[in-house]
Amino acid sequence: MNYDIIVENISIFPGPGREIIPAPSFVAVKDGTIRSLGPMSASPSRERAAQIVEMPPGRLLMPGLVNCHGHSAMSLFRGMADDLPLMEWLNEHIFPAEGQFVDEEMVYWCTLLACGEMLKSGTTTVADGYFHEEAAARAFTTSGIRSVAAHGIIDFPAPGVPDPQHNVKTAADFVKKLKGTHPLLTPALFCHSPYTCGPDTLKGAKENARALGVKLFIHLSETKAEGMIVQGSHGLSPTAFLNDLGILDQDTVCVHCIHLDDNDLDLLAASGAPVVTCPESNMKLASGTAPLPEMLRRGITVGIGTDGCASNNDLDLFGEMASATLLHKIMNQDPTALPAATVLELATTGGNAVLGGHPQGGLIIEGAPADMITIDLDQAHLTPFYNPDLLVYGTKGSDVREVFVNGRALIEDGEIISFDLHEAKERVRKLAEKVRRFRN
Ligand SMILES: [Zn+2]
Repeated sequence: MNYDIIVENISIFPGPGREIIPAPSFVAVKDGTIRSLGPMSASPSRERAAQIVEMPPGRLLMPGLVNCHGHSAMSLFRGMADDLPLMEWLNEHIFPAEGQFVDEEMVYWCTLLACGEMLKSGTTTVADGYFHEEAAARAFTTSGIRSVAAHGIIDFPAPGVPDPQHNVKTAADFVKKLKGTHPLLTPALFCHSPYTCGPDTLKGAKENARALGVKLFIHLSETKAEGMIVQGSHGLSPTAFLNDLGILDQDTVCVHCIHLDDNDLDLLAASGAPVVTCPESNMKLASGTAPLPEMLRRGITVGIGTDGCASNNDLDLFGEMASATLLHKIMNQDPTALPAATVLELATTGGNAVLGGHPQGGLIIEGAPADMITIDLDQAHLTPFYNPDLLVYGTKGSDVREVFVNGRALIEDGEIISFDLHEAKERVRKLAEKVRRFRN
């Protein structure tokens, strides 16, 4: 058997709960799949590989990270309006800027910039929800990242969907058009929330998602105010409302899930609906803290996301992992509340399960998709390296040196090689100048 690529001279962290395979070790990849790995003494002969990547000392190979929720194109609004209450932030800053600037070109370039940031910090799969999502999908495939691209649905005029009567159809048409067009792209639907989408919209979106065999994403119970609005309109908590509509199942991905009572948690667990937690966005907007330990105790599948980087303000999942574990420790006043190993699961195998990825996705094992990153452990802040907990507590996105998605090298020694990141940055800076003038 021949290989497309053999990565040599690495230590390997195969994934959460697994022992590190010490250096010098190898991984051999063929057709986007990990075919063989182990100590260099067992490595296939070099003649059998089209490409050999020999690593300098100190490189740790680990699974690429899975960002289960974001609005990539919002990179344009990074740092535009900080330190504001949620409703003022949304209504007076984000919505007006989106109304003015979100078009296909903006979504393409700002999503491509986000791909650069995510890949450089070790994310190999992203789930995105926005408008003009076809342009976002184009950016994802251009960058080489693995993606779930979900078209936004909301009961208001939105970018590219001026008449909300067509919101579900527009999103469903997007899925029909893109399904099966690219092996690394999975289209999906994204309802904004139970308070911005009425019952008919929610049911229509879920019917279409079921018929098309795709995921439905939704922001759920992000704020206390949302709970009061939905309770006032429908007499139920947001989770019970979705359950009542028959929307909760294992293909409905619920994002945030902060203000839940025991009944809500039981409903989520019984339905099999996975949850995505976005701790930095929740902290920055002071939305609250999701009851993750209770979710995990009930067996709910949980992934982690950055959310859009207007509410974060970055897309670095290493930082997000550290925030997640520290947040839950302080909120529970319990240093064991959300251990580093559990957070690594959320960002790898958990996220992969949330998105319905390959059964072995999120691991470096034979048969798994070759979505892999390397960390440069030859850093002061990563010395010594006793165990993978330091990947959560001490590692930064900037410690990522190589990134492979489906066996293809996208980052080499810290630099993007799959597309022109410099051009994306220039384009977004020019757009940001227009945003600045609009706001002055
Ligand atoms: Zn979001």
